[in-house]
Amino acid sequence: MALIVQKFGGTSVGDTQKIINAAKRIVAAKRKGSEIVVVVSAMGKTTDQLIHMAKEITKIPSSREMDMLVSTGEQISAALLAMAIHELGEGAISLTGAQVGITTDSIHTKARILDICPTKISEELNLGKIVIVTGFQGVNLKNDITTLGRGGSDTTAVAIAAALKADLCEIYTDVDGVYTADPRIVKNAKKLNEITHEEMLELASLGAKVLHARSVEFANKYDVPLCVRSSFNNSEGTYIVKEANVMEHPVIRGITTDKSEAKITLIKVPDTPGIAAKLFNKLAEYNVNIDMIIQNVSEQGHTDISFTMHRAEMPRLKNILDELLKTVNAKRYSINENIAKLSVVGIGMRSHSGVAAQMFSSLAKANVNISMISTSEIKISCVINGKDSDKATQVLHEEFQLDKLS
Ligand code: ADP
Ligand code: ASP
Ligand code: MG
Repeated sequence: MALIVQKFGGTSVGDTQKIINAAKRIVAAKRKGSEIVVVVSAMGKTTDQLIHMAKEITKIPSSREMDMLVSTGEQISAALLAMAIHELGEGAISLTGAQVGITTDSIHTKARILDICPTKISEELNLGKIVIVTGFQGVNLKNDITTLGRGGSDTTAVAIAAALKADLCEIYTDVDGVYTADPRIVKNAKKLNEITHEEMLELASLGAKVLHARSVEFANKYDVPLCVRSSFNNSEGTYIVKEANVMEHPVIRGITTDKSEAKITLIKVPDTPGIAAKLFNKLAEYNVNIDMIIQNVSEQGHTDISFTMHRAEMPRLKNILDELLKTVNAKRYSINENIAKLSVVGIGMRSHSGVAAQMFSSLAKANVNISMISTSEIKISCVINGKDSDKATQVLHEEFQLDKLS
């Protein structure tokens, strides 16, 4: 009997009618003869609302308590979905991350899964039940609830599929699959039939919300057959596949933007050996994740260092900025919270030259200023002004003719 893990995202369980619709789809799959494990997200904007409430109480909530709080959202949708399945005449049981043995490290609000012990899930499946698991959460070795970072239910689903050696992991969401760009920004974005793990991992890490980056890592590492499809229709969706299984690699397969970062510049830092080490050690001490870094050319023994980081971590950073300035003896700092990181991704870039030039020229023509650049073998990212982000995405989508892909 095939074992399928189905994950339903927030919009797909956004209200009780949508939960009933999801239940119908799940029961239909079970009645076709498969064993089904379901992973659910919190209903609609529940997680945002919970975070908002915490912020009304404190600027810097305890991250342990944040996890206690936000993990409740998934428990609501899991229990309601179990009830909806009971109504349709099938056995179902909802279980939390702790109950299904998802152990994580202790980095609250962005924990990583260390281990899954799927015995409980297997026992319930053997009783003929549909097993529903709360996404996005686990417990650390002290038994405290942890969460996996925003969008983390995808990772729960793929990790469970890996642990159970499932035949397929289906991510049901509010779009028909993975597109060449966010279809909400680019109207003629094309749905891709398939995309490689490497490309999907880059797109997800660089802001394409459609899959959580860690879920793609798990799928690649443990060979989990993974697809993204709509919970509102029956169209085929997008398969995430091994590079070797794809016949042709376009130079660019997708474009994405990330508006969740901020740029901090430390001005007039003495240009002496060890300064960067001191600065980034201090940031690491406070668990601040840094993304891009740029150091300017030195002038009269001084330089400026800019870095980008997640804007959600700004309140914590602001608390230590004075200490940072002292640590590196910088004159002052500036903060820009209105930036966007725009990235083009494609395996074909490995064997093509001139992609960066084409991207920069096209942005220049559209009067979009670039303030930072970073590249890897299969991606080019530029930091631009936040207000230019949608226009720049559309311009590049046209420039690289992504509407011609499939
Ligand atoms: P869910 O709640 O189902 O997990 P998400 O909101 O996390 O759904 O992810 C789906 C959303 O991702 C889509 O509604 C779409 O706006 C956005 N998205 C961004 N980039 C892409 C892309 N390249 N392809 C498809 N969707 C994308
Ligand atoms: N509910 C969590 C979030 O909104 C996890 C998820 O939906 O994947 O980020
Ligand atoms: Mg999601």
